[in-house]
Amino acid sequence: MQNLQLLARRTFPALILLTLCLMVAQSAHPWLLRWSGQLTYLPFLAMGCAALVAIKFSRSRMTLYCVLLLLPYAAQLYSGQLWLNPDIVPLPLLLMAAMAWLLWDKDRGFAPVNALLGLIQIGMAIAIALLLYTRLATLSLNWLAPVQQWLYPTYSAHFSALDVSLYAILLLTALLRIGLSPTNNHCVLFVSLLLLPLMQWHGPHQLLSIQISLLAMALLLLLSVILDSHNMAFRDELTGILSRRALMQYVQTLGKKYVVVMADIDHFKSFNDTYGHDVGDQVLRLVASRMTRVTGGGKAFRYGGEEFTLIFPRREPAQILPHLEALREDIANYQMVIRSPDRPQKKTKQTTKSRSKKSSPGKQNVQVTCSFGVAERSSKAGEFMAVMKQADMALYDAKKAGRNCVKTRT
Ligand code: GH3
Ligand code: MG
Ligand code: MG
Repeated sequence: MQNLQLLARRTFPALILLTLCLMVAQSAHPWLLRWSGQLTYLPFLAMGCAALVAIKFSRSRMTLYCVLLLLPYAAQLYSGQLWLNPDIVPLPLLLMAAMAWLLWDKDRGFAPVNALLGLIQIGMAIAIALLLYTRLATLSLNWLAPVQQWLYPTYSAHFSALDVSLYAILLLTALLRIGLSPTNNHCVLFVSLLLLPLMQWHGPHQLLSIQISLLAMALLLLLSVILDSHNMAFRDELTGILSRRALMQYVQTLGKKYVVVMADIDHFKSFNDTYGHDVGDQVLRLVASRMTRVTGGGKAFRYGGEEFTLIFPRREPAQILPHLEALREDIANYQMVIRSPDRPQKKTKQTTKSRSKKSSPGKQNVQVTCSFGVAERSSKAGEFMAVMKQADMALYDAKKAGRNCVKTRT
């Protein structure tokens, strides 16, 4: 469910942009048509830039996509038709097979062996798709015919029923891939696959449509690299929530009134000792996701290790205490279902307050508690670091008071 939300959030804006671009192309403004004839090199330039950035960021698949997307455009531009006779085997379909295959692989970088492997992969995918296509094209697949009728009449002239079915199958396999791992990178690569049927479509203003879509696609590819870099810089890798660096940047935007809360998982060391580091990591992720749901206008960051910082701008401790209590209880009552570690559990004495009970095989329910220290900005503690120090001392009070509680320092 979470993956589906991410997928929708990351693909819809790109799909909307591409649709707008196609609408602009179809408007066939005289200026655009002149541009289309004169600046034919622009898509090469834009995709070339995207490819260079992808190389810099070791995105080998994205680089290959940039090159593969340009191939049908170049074929269309210089030979007036697709490289393989479109009536026999449409080049975009073969390229989509290779690109969908690449999507299931991972970025291998540009070491000579890996680059060679990537090229072999593409060659193999194209060869298999070519063989399969020519074989299928000789069969009488009448039962596929209705598929073509689903298309607008203007499209059905350019796609055989076999083409439509194969495009649909390839897109679905690609969709499954990004559904399993909806990263910015995967989502934008998936969207770029949609340009391939467009390249096979010989409708009005096709060249202009391809040119504008390639420009938009280059922009989207670049944006995905920027977004991923931003996430790398400001999101914690393990939990996915905002990191300490993001906290330090956020602090600069705070006014003169705010509350800082330091939260720390109780007895986490012995939890790790009992269940193993991998289970500890899973629990950290689950606790982090709970922290981000804090109400009362708080913003959660992973400060480091098993410590989190919550910032409540424009609030006083009295206003946020009920929300912190709710969060503390929410975490303490949260039955976290975790995958049991492969290795057998160490028979350590259970010094932790965490409790565990077995659920279904391979799954386990565990619970942890957190302690919270609260401090507000005041004339005594004016700088953020001073407020945080106060919150840290309040956290120490909470630990001393038996843990799983909230303490305030003024
Ligand atoms: P206290 O209740 O006093 O906070 O006890 P504690 O055991 O939680 O505190 P302590 O500072 O002694 O131990 C923190 C532990 O958190 C040590 C380390 O094993 C664990 N930890 C820190 N970062 C990570 C992480 O990224 N993953 C996992 N699994 N454990 C971590
Ligand atoms: Mg700690
Ligand atoms: Mg701790």
